Amino acid sequence: MDTSNIRKLFPILGQKVNGHPLTYLDSAASAQKPIQVIETLKHYYERDNANVHRGVHTLGSRATDAYEGARAKAARFIHAERALEIIFTRGTTSSINLVASSYARAVCKEGDEIVVSAMEHHSNLLPWQQAAKATGAVLKYIPLQADGTFSIEAAEKTITDRTKVVSVSHISNVLGVTNPVKQIAAIAHKHGAVVMVDGAQSIPHIKVDVQELDCDFYAFSGHKMCGPTGIGVLYGKRAYLEQMEPIEFGGEMIDYVGLHDSSWKELPWKFEGGTPIIAGAIGLGAAIDFLEQIGLDVIEAHDKQLTSYAVERMKQIDHLTMYGTEEGRFGLVTFNLDTIHPHDLATVLDTYGVAIRAGHHCCQPLMKHFGASATARASFYLYNTEEDVEQLLLALNKTKKYFREVE
Ligand code: PMP
Repeated sequence: MDTSNIRKLFPILGQKVNGHPLTYLDSAASAQKPIQVIETLKHYYERDNANVHRGVHTLGSRATDAYEGARAKAARFIHAERALEIIFTRGTTSSINLVASSYARAVCKEGDEIVVSAMEHHSNLLPWQQAAKATGAVLKYIPLQADGTFSIEAAEKTITDRTKVVSVSHISNVLGVTNPVKQIAAIAHKHGAVVMVDGAQSIPHIKVDVQELDCDFYAFSGHKMCGPTGIGVLYGKRAYLEQMEPIEFGGEMIDYVGLHDSSWKELPWKFEGGTPIIAGAIGLGAAIDFLEQIGLDVIEAHDKQLTSYAVERMKQIDHLTMYGTEEGRFGLVTFNLDTIHPHDLATVLDTYGVAIRAGHHCCQPLMKHFGASATARASFYLYNTEEDVEQLLLALNKTKKYFREVE
């Protein structure tokens, strides 16, 4: 992959920050946008902007075609069987909340089980905590190993005939590890449970095939895969989506409205109450085109190689602790340096133009597992290079020296 040509497509990367060329290592939080996505949004607002599904005028038809075209692209992108299995949402958080508030609350009874892991992002925990509280279901955790990962054997022991929903991340936003979601789906199905996959960190890096994984629900966010903020996808198998009730009611999602009762449109529109996220979906479509043009296999190989390179280089820094497993750390490295607080570290790194993330990464239970209140995280995407890693190394070494001197 010719990263230098790819970088040119991302106008934001051309700037200097604090006198240094920007080294953006925070794509796991939000990825940058290529010119194709920016231009698509600009074109939409300059030429096609109108509300969808109702206008009989030309702009309304153009906007509707582009919006529904984006749905078809998203379906193809994750190999969903049908476009109606793609629900546009605000992002991964909204997608998981939709399943937890609709499916789980309808299906779970007192004593049933919802299974997650303590590795999960808060967005894949809190909706299930709330669903468990509302239904009397038990929220069970697949036990973690010392390195923060869980084994398939542990998952097998945790999932039982009382389990109604299992929800796990495909790739962890702290460990970078890929969870065996296909095997977990098979175990869950054996017990009659459904599987939801949090794909926020996988979809930007790897080719996802929801039919091959045989997951029942899959959630992801546009902004982590070069698309705009405010748009995401809930994929669901048709049979489950059909049986689910909407959780938002109002315009756009109705078939008939009476004074005391109403009925809903068919899939997918019954879940998209109000004016939908039209520009966001069209921008997401452009991001899908962009990633497919480069090739997800090429992106995966690049991101894997660059992460391994970063790990090898970071091993050479004394007193740097990396979290997660040696193998399978992918797309990101979570670490602490000496006794420097990660917020201080990230602040000093910023003076070298290096943008990393510091904090609990919306994973407080996992931080607790490691006995850490916070960690630093550098994450990599298709526009990052070995030079970016070297700039990170340089900044880390300087920061370490600085804190040693002031001690
Ligand atoms: N799950 C994981 C694993 C994530 O990394 C994130 C984003 N940090 C989310 C869920 C939530 O995504 P969003 O904020 O786009 O809804």
